[in-house]
Amino acid sequence: MKKITIAANWKMYLDESGSIEFIDKLNSESDLFSNKDIILFPSHACIRSVKNHLKFDIKIGMQDCDIHENGAYTGSTSINAIDVASCIVGHSERRSIYKENNDVISEKLERTLSSDADPILCVGETLDEKNSQLTESILDSQLSVLPNELNGKKLTIAYEPVWAIGSGDVPSNEYINEMLSYIKSRLKSLYSGADLDNIKLFYGGSVDASNINELLDVELIDGFLIGSASANFEKFRDIVKQIKL
Ligand code: PEP
Repeated sequence: MKKITIAANWKMYLDESGSIEFIDKLNSESDLFSNKDIILFPSHACIRSVKNHLKFDIKIGMQDCDIHENGAYTGSTSINAIDVASCIVGHSERRSIYKENNDVISEKLERTLSSDADPILCVGETLDEKNSQLTESILDSQLSVLPNELNGKKLTIAYEPVWAIGSGDVPSNEYINEMLSYIKSRLKSLYSGADLDNIKLFYGGSVDASNINELLDVELIDGFLIGSASANFEKFRDIVKQIKL
C-alpha cells in the first residue's frame, strides 16, 4: 500500500499565534501525526515559528516563491530564504488573483527545481473551461511549463479543478480518475524511467473529513492538497485519522 501524502495549504488563514496554537495541538497528539507523510504550508512569515515549535519531524513547505533567487525584489520571498522541503507553484489563486501566467509559473518551477525543495505544480480548469470542453487543452497548456528532464528531483502535480476549490463541490471519483489518467498520459509522453517514478499525483479541492475516505478509492491519487480544512486543527485531525498509512 502506498503512503498517502497530506499537504496542508494554510493560505493566509493562520497568523503567527494561530499557527503556534495549531502546532501545540499537533504536538499533543504526535502519535497520530508523526508516522504520516504530512507537509505543512504556513504563511512565509510563520515558517520559522512553526519550525521552532514542532516537537517531531514534519515537512514544511512554502506556498509560493519569487522567480528570482535574491536581489532587489521588495516584498517577495526567495525559495532559498529558509530551508523547506517543498514549494507550491501555480496555485489557482496565484494564477487568477496575482495574474501569474505560464511564463511566471515556468520560472518559479525552474527556481524551485534548482533549489533543495520539491515543487507541487497545481493545474486545473475553471467551470467555464469545463463546460466548454476545454479541460484537456487547459491541462496541456498548464503542463507545458514542465522541463524536459527532472534530473533526480521529485515533482508533484496537484490536479485542482478551480470550481472545486473552496466550493464544497467535489468531483466524482470517476471524473478525478479520468483527469489524473489524462495528466499521467501527458507525463508519460514527456518522461520515462526514474523521472517518471519521481512524479506524484495529488487531488485538491474541498477535501474534508466527510469525503476523504471515498476519495482514497481513486487509485491514481498519491496525496491531497487541502486548503481550508487543513487550517483548522480539529478538521485536519479528522482527515488525518482516516489515512491508514
Ligand atoms: C486549495 O486552495 O488548494 C484547496 C484545495 O482549497 P480547499 O481545500 O479549501 O478547497
